[in-house]
Amino acid sequence: MKHIRNFCIIAHIDHGKSTLADRLIQSCGGVSLREFHDQMLDSMDIERERGITIKSNTVTLDYRAPDGQDYLLNLIDTPGHVDFSHEVRRSLMASDGALIVVDASQGVEAQTVANLYLAMEYDLDLLPVINKIDLPAADVDRVREEIDSDLGLDPFAAIPVSAKTGVGIDDVLAGIVEHLPAPTGDPEAPLKALVFDAHFDKYRGVILQVRVMEGTLKPRDIIHFMHTDRDFKVDELGYNQLKLVPRKQLSAGEVGYIVAGVKSVQDIEIGDTITLANRPATEPIPGYQPARQVVFSSVYPMSTDEYQDLTKALDKLAINDAALTYEKDSSAALGFGFRCGFLGLLHLDVIQERLQREFDIGLVISAPSVKYQLTMTDGSTLEVDNPSYWPDPMKIQSAAEPYIKATILTPEAYVGPIMELCRDHRSESQTMNYLSAGRVEVVSEMPLGEVLFDFYGKLKMITRGYGSFDYVPIEYRTTDVVKVEILVNKEPIDALSYLVHREKARTRALHYCEQLAEAIPRHQFKIPIQGAIGGTIIARATIQPYRKDVTAKLYGGDVTRKNKLLEKQKKGKAKMKQFGSVNIPQKAFVSVLQAD
Ligand code: GDP
Ligand code: MG
Repeated sequence: MKHIRNFCIIAHIDHGKSTLADRLIQSCGGVSLREFHDQMLDSMDIERERGITIKSNTVTLDYRAPDGQDYLLNLIDTPGHVDFSHEVRRSLMASDGALIVVDASQGVEAQTVANLYLAMEYDLDLLPVINKIDLPAADVDRVREEIDSDLGLDPFAAIPVSAKTGVGIDDVLAGIVEHLPAPTGDPEAPLKALVFDAHFDKYRGVILQVRVMEGTLKPRDIIHFMHTDRDFKVDELGYNQLKLVPRKQLSAGEVGYIVAGVKSVQDIEIGDTITLANRPATEPIPGYQPARQVVFSSVYPMSTDEYQDLTKALDKLAINDAALTYEKDSSAALGFGFRCGFLGLLHLDVIQERLQREFDIGLVISAPSVKYQLTMTDGSTLEVDNPSYWPDPMKIQSAAEPYIKATILTPEAYVGPIMELCRDHRSESQTMNYLSAGRVEVVSEMPLGEVLFDFYGKLKMITRGYGSFDYVPIEYRTTDVVKVEILVNKEPIDALSYLVHREKARTRALHYCEQLAEAIPRHQFKIPIQGAIGGTIIARATIQPYRKDVTAKLYGGDVTRKNKLLEKQKKGKAKMKQFGSVNIPQKAFVSVLQAD
């Protein structure tokens, strides 16, 4: 156990966690150069393209220190985005130490700080790494100052590296064994193992990632999940060395995988504690937090005959994503679909894109919503996230919505506009902390629902990309929320309705009307588009009539060309859906969700 190190890498997004992980793997001979490809741990296509790590991944490395001593290094890659902070927590719980990576040209950012606080909650020893020193804009001295003043860590312990060129990687490896602690735990005690990740494999079923805290686990043991109260028999266990390498046992201090006949990720809870059925531990590992869905949205297939495909696709995605929830939903306008729960906006984005890309389904997605808590006039309470189930306003006594504490790090020059942005998004308080030279932390309490629309993009624009943002949920607060309906040619389109604060209802409705008026093609009659609360119209736009003769421009009698064009127009129509006598293209549903 003395020669094991369990650590994760934490950083603000894009500061180079995954690249550093690749370099460490390569340096320890984890893969041959031939097998090696960039971003080794980001296995899904979409992760690779967007350069984000969606699921945490783990790898066991053999490292021989300069003094000839062999070590086992268990490296746990973590997602950097706020939506996935529960995954970061689990990675931290499985670790004894962490590398905290800071980009030498960008310096400390919001998620660097947020992740540091998390790591401190779990008592991890920290080793700062200053990455990207090869960049011309790198300023190692300034970043050392920030590590001192913003993070409160020893600036002289920080190791300068370039994960790109490989400079300094040996120092990082030596630093890990020297500065990060070995695990502790009693291999003879009753088993306690933390399930910190799981994924579905076509051939093997669910593969669990575990960190053994106490005791020893062997093949054929019957394991008991302490929170979900289920038993499984271990078929195989071992180390993750980019492929699965079976072993005879896993004991206290070790990190590895288990195959135990689990059919779907939904059958277990990640973060659960495993013990032995015949010699159970008395208490699970503390700090268990199930994933919490905070953003909800309905997903419908564009054409009703794709409903079966959508069902299959969601089943398939959920096998691998324990944080995705979905239940049947139906819309008068769009037929059957699903109400889905997500960890945040990025999670929604990722799922939506995977559905369209991997399963090739045309989708209509309703406006994302938070969950409101209602107290009714008869004294009962109700939780609603779906506008379709919004009750009669006369029967609502009071409503509350979730608030967050948002932390924004920005160069000082943009503080004014950022304060204004926060106030525009119903921020209730803003405090400022001056950090190191020229940088300010703005802390604001605001509704979560306000960052779902038009916040992040504006923040990036205002700060020219230098602002960074993170949040934690705090509490529910009283609010005045209304349901806005959108009518196209006097017909309400239920998939377009949304819940919003009364103050924001009109501007948002106007945005919807204008976007729809632009995205819906002209018809042979005039089409009014209206936003309404109850029976009251609060916004409108009009699509003027137009007779479209697509062949008018063609001269002569080129019949094949003419036919081709008509065919093309027909195909374009296939992506439209008819509502009453109006055809609405799929892109219209997408356009309303995008800010100008
Ligand atoms: P992550 O989001 O923290 O996992 O960051 P990535 O490892 O995906 O890196 C983000 C971007 O920075 C990628 O384009 C990398 O190629 C680049 N990058 C990472 N390390 C270095 C480095 O040492 N030098 C330079 N110049 N670029 C780097
Ligand atoms: Mg990454």
